[in-house]
Amino acid sequence: KRLVRIVYKVHKVCKVHKVTCFIDFMNFMNLIFFVMKKIGILGFQGAIIEHERQIKAIGHEPVIVKYPEQLEEIDGIILPGGESTTMGKILNRTGLMEPLRGKIQSGLPVWGTCAGMILLAKELVNDSVTHLGVMDIAVRRNAYGSQIDSFATKKVIPAVDSKEIELVFIRAPYITSVKDGVKILCELDGHIVAAEEKNMLVTSFHPELTDNTAFLKYFVSKI
Ligand code: GLN
Repeated sequence: KRLVRIVYKVHKVCKVHKVTCFIDFMNFMNLIFFVMKKIGILGFQGAIIEHERQIKAIGHEPVIVKYPEQLEEIDGIILPGGESTTMGKILNRTGLMEPLRGKIQSGLPVWGTCAGMILLAKELVNDSVTHLGVMDIAVRRNAYGSQIDSFATKKVIPAVDSKEIELVFIRAPYITSVKDGVKILCELDGHIVAAEEKNMLVTSFHPELTDNTAFLKYFVSKI
């Protein structure tokens, strides 16, 4: 306890004098209380470094996942935004599709952002090819139009945070319907844009492109 207090004081003094502290306080706390989680990020394509930055910022360890063996060392995994068709093809080509599906089905916590949501959906209403197909949601790809129809807005998502969160939509999908067992977390203009089912969490938007880590903390709280 004394050690923690000393590190905290050093950290505060460094902050006041705008000195970069050599010990990251959050990392240190997580390390000594054994709460540091290894959070995988599917590492083929898309918003990988943005998730990596946020994971580090809240004191956990990011692992860029490209090989099936890496699934054994992580506590949860993020499927980032990007291009779902491309990611689906690479998942198949690298042999990661089957083991990843198996891990998720046996309880590995997963958060799909945007293209990640598409990868997880059991049904795609405007595409005949599904990918992991593990979550009981039907999803419309590019539901808001093309790249130039991308937008940002703000909203309170009560399950996640009492404060407003910035929601960034980039050629985003939305959920058109859900089956029993899926909890809706956020709707925008009558469309479902965040939901969860057991160990699976999905968002149409990109919290990792903002400075707000509330959504990531919410995901980590489920691990
Ligand atoms: N439109 C992309 C797709 O269908 C998703 C866009 C994103 O992840 N920002 O895969």
